[in-house]
Amino acid sequence: MGYFQDEDNFYENLIKDYDSKLDTDGLSGQRLARRLAVLSHIGETENGGVNRPGFSQEEKQAKEFVMDWMNEAGLEVSVDGAGNVFGRLDGLKNVSPIISGSHLDSVPDGGSFDGPLGVLAALEVVEAWKTKGYTPEKPFEIAIFSDEEGARFKSGLMGSRAFMGQVKEEELTDYVDEQGHTFTEVIEEYGSDMEQYLDYEFKRKAIDMFIELHIEQGEVLEEENQPVGIVTGIAGPAWLEVNFKGEAGHAGNTPMVGRKDSLVAAAMLVKKIEELPKKVSDTAVATVGKLNVIPNGSNVIPGEVNLIVDVRDIHEETRDELLGIIEQEAKIIAETKELDVDMIHNSTIKPLPIEKKFQQELAEILKKHQIKPVYIPSGAGHDSMILGTKVPVAMLFVRSKDGISHHPDEWSSLSDCIQGVHVLKDYIEKQMETKE
Ligand SMILES: [Zn+2]
Repeated sequence: MGYFQDEDNFYENLIKDYDSKLDTDGLSGQRLARRLAVLSHIGETENGGVNRPGFSQEEKQAKEFVMDWMNEAGLEVSVDGAGNVFGRLDGLKNVSPIISGSHLDSVPDGGSFDGPLGVLAALEVVEAWKTKGYTPEKPFEIAIFSDEEGARFKSGLMGSRAFMGQVKEEELTDYVDEQGHTFTEVIEEYGSDMEQYLDYEFKRKAIDMFIELHIEQGEVLEEENQPVGIVTGIAGPAWLEVNFKGEAGHAGNTPMVGRKDSLVAAAMLVKKIEELPKKVSDTAVATVGKLNVIPNGSNVIPGEVNLIVDVRDIHEETRDELLGIIEQEAKIIAETKELDVDMIHNSTIKPLPIEKKFQQELAEILKKHQIKPVYIPSGAGHDSMILGTKVPVAMLFVRSKDGISHHPDEWSSLSDCIQGVHVLKDYIEKQMETKE
């Protein structure tokens, strides 16, 4: 383990209050902590966070560490054209596999649990089976999906969407990262190419089920004082790219009257968006987190601004209604300010309700572990939302400290993580018994 040092603060912080009585049934808190620590140092930032954009060398390196562990655990490892990694364990029967996993990329200066915990939890299940000499009925695969967060291009879930055949070539042509690299260049540097990226993998027949364990990224479990909870559905995000085109000009020589300042228009829209979600539903949210000012000079009136509005709800109708209202507002602002606006819908994803049957089965397992079942809708998008368009999906949340995520302070206690793995393992074993 190249990155693991004897005195590793991340590891020490995880292990210091771990309840080692949870090391039953072949699971090891120490092993999980070491692996989380190793990954926490790949792309580590000075704030103690991680920076592993999708299709970066850091994301690749994190995958390589996990691939080594998969090999050591006796899994058959493969990588598809989108860089998605699969570690397969054959079952007693040659039927379609159960898959569990998540992602290893991060947002800029993100945390070390969002993604890695789901991948390492699935691997911990295999380690436990190995210890106990258990061979599952059905094949089992651990999946690492590429670029879930979408920190690099305008759209996330680039691995799972490719896996499910949901990316069209036209969508990729205008993707450029902050360094000016096109998607074609990035995917080639990563070791694949467009043809392989688009040659989707789902044609490998059916998948029995996909199960994802993920940190909650909210405070419900903390309020309920439970380590693990059941996800009821995932709010589908829709990204609306808005481009305001005004006129650049000298900040000193251009009079205030008659200016076509794109940033003023963008600011008006951002302000307006804050009050719109509550008009459509209690669960809808909308955010502008990315704004690109052109030419971005201190003494130049911004000629062009593009921004991305992230709109979410667990109900598709109200989410789309909100999108429509925002588009309308952008047009009104452009008219008032006498500049041009065009809008593009990027990555509109259907919200995914999770089957009641799976939620009930998970509740039974939680009770067996003396955990009160808590039901939580996910505001954040996940790879399971994409898999869920064609494959039965279940999802578990592990308690997040203070509900913080996408931040260096993101934290889940090792005891909570291992309790999550216990539930995941029992649930996968239960699904192994069910008929196709
Ligand atoms: Zn995630």
